[in-house]
Amino acid sequence: MANQEDNLFKNVIAHAKEYGFIFPSSEIYDGLSAVYDYGQNGAELKNNIKEYWWKFMTMLHENIVGIDAAIFMHPTTWKASGHVDAFNDPMIDNKDSKKRYRADQLVEGYIEKLEEKIEKEVEKAAKRFDNFDRTMFVSTNARVLEYQRKIDDINEKLKEAMGSGNMEAMKQLIIDLEIADPISGSRNWTDVRQFNLMFSTEMGSVADDANKIYLRPETAQGIFVNFLNVQKTGRMKIPFGIAQIGKAFRNEIVARQFIFRMREFEQMEMQFFVKPGEEMQWYESWKEKRMKWHKALGLGDENYRFHDHLNLAHYANAACDIQFNFPMGFRELEGIHSRTDFDLKSHEKYSGKKLQYFDPEDNQNYIPYVVETSIGLDRMFLAVLSSAYKEEKLPDGSERVVLRIPAPLAPNKVAILPLTKKDGLPEKAMEIMNELKFHVRCFYEEKDAIGKRYRRQDAIGTPYCVTVDHQTLQDNTVTIRHRDTMEQERVVIASLKATLIEACSINNILKKI
Ligand code: ATP
Repeated sequence: MANQEDNLFKNVIAHAKEYGFIFPSSEIYDGLSAVYDYGQNGAELKNNIKEYWWKFMTMLHENIVGIDAAIFMHPTTWKASGHVDAFNDPMIDNKDSKKRYRADQLVEGYIEKLEEKIEKEVEKAAKRFDNFDRTMFVSTNARVLEYQRKIDDINEKLKEAMGSGNMEAMKQLIIDLEIADPISGSRNWTDVRQFNLMFSTEMGSVADDANKIYLRPETAQGIFVNFLNVQKTGRMKIPFGIAQIGKAFRNEIVARQFIFRMREFEQMEMQFFVKPGEEMQWYESWKEKRMKWHKALGLGDENYRFHDHLNLAHYANAACDIQFNFPMGFRELEGIHSRTDFDLKSHEKYSGKKLQYFDPEDNQNYIPYVVETSIGLDRMFLAVLSSAYKEEKLPDGSERVVLRIPAPLAPNKVAILPLTKKDGLPEKAMEIMNELKFHVRCFYEEKDAIGKRYRRQDAIGTPYCVTVDHQTLQDNTVTIRHRDTMEQERVVIASLKATLIEACSINNILKKI
């Protein structure tokens, strides 16, 4: 991470703590690694993101319904899903720095550097030639071709080692590429070991192996095991989807990037059940829909891109990520996977229960194929927070930190501020608040100078401030101050409700999709 981005990220993290968005978990005991608590403003923002997702899935699609499955599941679930045997990350330690890494990420970091080299060649050439043709250049330039050949070769070896679980081959790759510890520069590595990411605990009072259960590492399996329950009780016809928001747990090897990689996090997943053979068209359709959902928020279209998976998971026949431009660069925000019939088939096998759909149109039974969209709620939170955070120099020479959070997601929609604490202004302000609070989330404050109060609201992203002054008592008007432009206008109190509902409604964003 370049220094400037590094500093920006640090400032965002500090701001999130100072203004009640995110606290380290159990901070009085010095925190717990990669576990965080959401504060009073964070919880509101998080709930609004959930609402935006949930409404999009279950209200805008008449063939998608939502469920809320338990975190604990029968342990065989995780045998069937492949997580007991294959939900491993390859772990490696540097003997000198004592730092732990994911071996595959070290190799991917090496590939990223080669890709950066290609980009540099492209940039140089683009400056040199008019009518520069990128496709032509990358397919003919000797140096670029050499880098690309190397990337393909490494990818092939990485895929082979990961696919077969050959950890000696993984270590050999790190040695052959002369990959050094990013911190110490040392190449003194331990062997690579497989590390299962699932947390386990015991259920009941007898702590033997038979009682071992897992904290779910993904919410999807709660949907798969309920597939027929929902289909039958909801009389659902294929294609249809089941959506869910809930906690997931992964004992991540490296968890150093704030809420980007946590050990306890939340997922918003939707499994879409389709007729076998039609999965690719639904995969493309969900890619497009999800990208539209993201862009409708207005965080900047240039901050998103697709990234196809080269190494497919054991259950997938196509997969890609929607990456977001986080402070540390483009990283996965959401995964879109064509999961085939792997999960339902496997649950059929392990449970001995039929998990098939009777298609009345074709008059036949089949196990549906599944296209899933899976987004981390905390990563979405970080995307919103980090892109909203702005340090601004104002025309009068002063500075402010403002969170330009899209109004429908902001923790508070409006702050009601009596200019002074006397002359009946607080009473009038409360009267306004008592009317508005049933429609939008309000914040009331009467302490400190008005300028200071505006700054505090900027810092937590409140899009509107309503100021009650002496004129209000005479003509029932107030000033409304806009967070982003800092402009103020005088409006009649009677118009506030409609204006605020219109500007802060999640439906307004949904209508753009
Ligand atoms: P990564 O490659 O970053 O580890 P993944 O491919 O393992 O992610 P998935 O299993 O596809 O992730 O999970 C779906 C989504 O859940 C991800 O796109 C991400 O937004 C979120 N997610 C996964 N792991 C974490 C984590 N440890 N902390 C926060 N969010 C996570």
